[in-house]
Amino acid sequence: MSAIVDELRKVAAGLLKSGAVKVVIGYENEAAPRPVFLENAEDAEKLVWNDRCFHNLARYLNTTEGKAAIVAKGCDVRAVAGLIREGQVKREDVVIIGVDCAAQTESGEKLGKCLVCDCHRPEIYDHLVEDENALVEPQTDPYGDVSEIEAKPVEERLGYWLGLMERCIRCYACRQVCPLCYCKECVAEQSLPKWLPRSPDGKGNLFFHVMRAHHLAGRCVDCGECERVCPVDIPIRTINRKLIRDISELYGYKAGVELDVVPPLTTFKPDDPEDAFR
Ligand code: SF4
Ligand code: SF4
Ligand code: SF4
Repeated sequence: MSAIVDELRKVAAGLLKSGAVKVVIGYENEAAPRPVFLENAEDAEKLVWNDRCFHNLARYLNTTEGKAAIVAKGCDVRAVAGLIREGQVKREDVVIIGVDCAAQTESGEKLGKCLVCDCHRPEIYDHLVEDENALVEPQTDPYGDVSEIEAKPVEERLGYWLGLMERCIRCYACRQVCPLCYCKECVAEQSLPKWLPRSPDGKGNLFFHVMRAHHLAGRCVDCGECERVCPVDIPIRTINRKLIRDISELYGYKAGVELDVVPPLTTFKPDDPEDAFR
């Protein structure tokens, strides 16, 4: 057993034994890690950690009762911070067990987000499971693919995205897995008014993706789960990161890093020079 797993289990057992939390959300099953919800200190032995713990467990935070502890990588912690910032989870109701993370892999390949990761060590935590070997430099330009598409003429860009959207089967896996897509009723499924047809089609698909991207503008933390689960390989992160980069350049804001900074797209100033805000 690695020192990381050993520490993870000790922290989890301690929190459950002392009654500090009711549940610990972590990973079990070494060969193919999956989410697990532990309520007894003896079960802390089930916890595992390796480079296939790719699920973002923040998705489950507001599904449990009582105070919860969550095993979280740097990117997951940003989603937890988003949920706290948006009042979905109270800071005092969650114990963040941050874990240093070098990279996560699927089918032996590093996930795209891990190649450009700048949060190998979580920014916010209550307990930190350290791994100095995980603190590696990003390997590629984080917005290279965004710039490449932006360099194309408008018609070509539109054709590129319409072609990809045609493939969408509207299974909504991208929405279901997203920790920050928590509306009780999604616009995509409203019937009064009915914004888009239930069956997948070109325009409806485009509407869904544009609507979703804008609902997540300034909120998406690039955890990459939406793209990972898409069964037809639509590069959803590219859309998200176009907005992440623009919001960073326009407002100097990055979602999920600080709990006390108000996100720029959720506030306004009465003297804002844009007419739209008056
Ligand atoms: S983005 Fe960073 S913290 Fe998240 S899984 Fe990849 S390496 Fe780990
Ligand atoms: S997961 Fe992929 S196929 Fe399913 S709704 Fe999202 S983009 Fe469409
Ligand atoms: S939109 Fe995708 S990358 Fe952004 S927070 Fe949701 S699941 Fe993560």
